[in-house]
Amino acid sequence: MKRILVCEDEASIRAFVVINLKRAGYDVVEADTGEQALKLYQQADGPVDLALLDIMLPGIDGLEVCRRLRESSPGIGIILLTARTREEDKVGGLMMGADDYITKPFSPAELVARVEALYRRIASARTEQGAGYLEEIVSGEFVLNLRTRTLKKAGQPLDLTQVEYQIMEYFFSQADMPLTRTDILRRVWGGEYYGDEKIVDVNIRRLRMKIEENPSDPQHILTVWGRGYKWSA
Ligand code: CA
Repeated sequence: MKRILVCEDEASIRAFVVINLKRAGYDVVEADTGEQALKLYQQADGPVDLALLDIMLPGIDGLEVCRRLRESSPGIGIILLTARTREEDKVGGLMMGADDYITKPFSPAELVARVEALYRRIASARTEQGAGYLEEIVSGEFVLNLRTRTLKKAGQPLDLTQVEYQIMEYFFSQADMPLTRTDILRRVWGGEYYGDEKIVDVNIRRLRMKIEENPSDPQHILTVWGRGYKWSA
């Protein structure tokens, strides 16, 4: 069963989201505050695969819920709901560990497509994990473990989200090759992704903070002007 936590304080939007996700086959856990979302997440009687979090909530906001969920569950998929005018929410949310965001207002088709795309990424990550490919890719002082889906730098594990891991896996498989934002978007987010390429830049910025000695002078994730990015060990 696919299970998703939905946190939205506006009852009409929540009802709209819930009915569409149920139609798409999800078991939906509903919360109207961030506090309730965290509580229900803890109490859920099975794994919660995804969380759909409105940012603007009474009490703790969706960004804080996102941060806490990500801290306790590196493998959960998190999508934020944001108002069209609030660009900074998107960047802030991705920095807090969200995988994607949906801008209000949105259609049922867009909602379901985005949720399904993230669910597929998470489910395929689990399958690969269970299938037991015992593979490591070594690149300089970095070791990417394809089975445990982890990255180590000089023997120290780096704390990556699933999306960040997938970007690194793509970089490692294409070392020293410039990859465009579109390449990265298609590979990591999937061909049917509705959003824009800015999400790639935000994830790269976050990865640099985790990987580089000096994120403002990156030595590994290099910007290729006019092209995109490339990995250099
Ligand atoms: Ca709200």
